[in-house]
Amino acid sequence: MKVLVTGGAGYIGSHIVKALGEKGYDILVYDNLSYGHEWAVLHGRLIKGDLADKEFLKSVIQDEKPDAVIHMAALIVVDESVREPLRYYRNNFVNALNLVEVCLEHEVKRFIFSSTAAVYGIPQKVPVTEDTPLLPINPYGSSKVMVEHMLRDAAASSDFNYVSLRYFNVAGADPLSRIGQAREDATHLITVSLRTALGRKSHLDIFGTDYPTHDGTCIRDYIHVDDLSDAHILALEYLASGGSSNIFNCGYGHGYSVKEVVDTVRKVTGINFQVIETARRPGDPPTLIADSSKLRKELGWTPRHDDLEYIIKTAWDWEKKVSRQ
Ligand code: UDP
Repeated sequence: MKVLVTGGAGYIGSHIVKALGEKGYDILVYDNLSYGHEWAVLHGRLIKGDLADKEFLKSVIQDEKPDAVIHMAALIVVDESVREPLRYYRNNFVNALNLVEVCLEHEVKRFIFSSTAAVYGIPQKVPVTEDTPLLPINPYGSSKVMVEHMLRDAAASSDFNYVSLRYFNVAGADPLSRIGQAREDATHLITVSLRTALGRKSHLDIFGTDYPTHDGTCIRDYIHVDDLSDAHILALEYLASGGSSNIFNCGYGHGYSVKEVVDTVRKVTGINFQVIETARRPGDPPTLIADSSKLRKELGWTPRHDDLEYIIKTAWDWEKKVSRQ
């Protein structure tokens, strides 16, 4: 089975490509390398291309005739999306529209979409189930909702089938440290904490200590990137065996507060880096935890790395390796 992975040279995409490669899939990565890297593509072939270049995209899909597409390529920084919303709608929505149009024109009928818990905004109830209303609170989340709606409508009017996977907080790295988060400007808690432990930042800011949680800091459901990759393989197998369009949350179903993550980073690294408690970051929901029972039940997903120390350890090994280079 030939799979085209857009954004396959990026952080999550490269782990998905690794998982596909280990399963023997024929892989074609389509990436503009704006944030991805050629070295991160451990399997298959890399085509440098932009989804905005519809003619080129068409020629690739026409020549390669993939059996399925995994669409990962997107912009992902929430506060950037607030400052530059149109860039997010163009990259995340218009480019996805190009891709879906080309897929429909060339009989590519299986599609996996990289969605996000940001589609829920600030949910009224946690753990969050897939039928929770979609009320995004920033352009990033809105752009992902727009793609989900487009996929729903495209599937309803043809024999095209998709799976949308809504990621919670993806973290960790390849245990062999071949790939990991390579963005210098990464803003995510675990990466920033580890880089602070390495001395690359003077301190870590904790954004808000007055949330309605047990220690006042936000709670998130951190999922190891290899467990998330397994969910993509299962989604692909589901569509290949005739499964119809579906949506699944991807998380473990329990969470950790920012302070608990900081304590675990200190424990794993053995470094007591400085932390400064500061004001809330706008738009952060107090608690985001996935109800992932649907993914477990319907796709048979069993996470292998539901262990915050393991997640942090793999990310730590990766950060140390990168800092030595
Ligand atoms: N956070 C923090 N300091 C940082 C980065 C993140 O306190 O330097 C907090 C953030 O406010 C949120 C949690 O950590 O409550 C997870 O944030 P992250 O950016 O990792 O992921 P998000 O949940 O926003 O997708």
